[in-house]
Amino acid sequence: MSLDYRTAVLHAPKTPIVTETVTARDLRPHDVLVRIKAAGLCHTDLEVIEGQLRYPMPIVLGHEAAGIVEAVGREAQGVGVGDHVILSWNPHCGHCFYCDRDLPILCETYLREGPKAVAFDGAPTARLKSGGDVRQLMFLGAFGEYGIVHDHQAIPVPKELPFDRACLIGCGVMTGVGAALNVAHVGYGDTVMVVGCGAVGLSAVQGARLAGAGDIIAVDLDPAKLVLAESVGATFCIDARRDDPVALTKQRTGGRGADVVLEAAGNAKGFGLSVEAVRPGGEVVWLGKTDVENDVAFRWGALMAEKRIRRSSYGGARPARDFPLLARAYLDGTLKLDELITRRIALDDINAGFAALKSGEAIRSVVMF
Ligand SMILES: [Zn+2]
Ligand SMILES: [Zn+2]
Repeated sequence: MSLDYRTAVLHAPKTPIVTETVTARDLRPHDVLVRIKAAGLCHTDLEVIEGQLRYPMPIVLGHEAAGIVEAVGREAQGVGVGDHVILSWNPHCGHCFYCDRDLPILCETYLREGPKAVAFDGAPTARLKSGGDVRQLMFLGAFGEYGIVHDHQAIPVPKELPFDRACLIGCGVMTGVGAALNVAHVGYGDTVMVVGCGAVGLSAVQGARLAGAGDIIAVDLDPAKLVLAESVGATFCIDARRDDPVALTKQRTGGRGADVVLEAAGNAKGFGLSVEAVRPGGEVVWLGKTDVENDVAFRWGALMAEKRIRRSSYGGARPARDFPLLARAYLDGTLKLDELITRRIALDDINAGFAALKSGEAIRSVVMF
């Protein structure tokens, strides 16, 4: 097999992404070749472009994708040619210290190979036509016509699910919905505050709703995003440019604060207010991210009274279990995904797409193939 395909390559931080032809490696036993149909532009990709996350280059970004299985290696399991799949960026070995403790996000092989930006077997899957290996972000590198992944990264989902919506489940939706369903302990009727209403925050609002929360308070600086939050299930919206989210939340909860706060803004204000706004004994889950070298501060007194803070990166994802559930929830009408897509773009428009993500103008732009 010799397969050439078009892909979007980043050669150095803070430079434009360029479209180039690459050659795929011959399929190894556990490889799955996926024809990418849709890939979302996520903030983590942007962090690599901006140099906040450091990876070897040249690299193909893109880690929120869906497509059709075109070929499988001779030992690939769980997936077959023609399957529609959502891709997971958290391959895990299944038998290390953390996998044995049900923490696949901390899998030792995943953590060892991740910074190299290669496939899960430790080697790159494509070479530039002009010579040299090209890296792939988060074991995927999905901004291309094809991608080669390890078999358990390709999760079959129902074929009725449109690809542009399917891809969102692979990162932003899993992260937000999963934080409420798998990570936080949201009780029936609880008050949940969600800080930041981008793709992850809008998904966290929906996770809270699916978990049975009562009052779902959405906080953002952009009124347009609050309108979206309301359309996916928020019961009360706070424009933080105008009103004080902590004071208003306490007012609605007898002076106590929210039972659970899901922070999805990833800025100093968001981290600080999440700890202030949660009630004594309540739980804060930080989903948002800032530069890895940044310090994060909050008022020490705000943490008193047995409050808990927890970090979640992928919503406690077990992709083989969760992706089909989320796909089904969309098809049933209980999970809303159409609202998250701001625009559909071509691969050649990817730089403009990232500019729109950076300015906050787009929730999700999706590259369509
Ligand atoms: Zn992402
Ligand atoms: Zn492992």
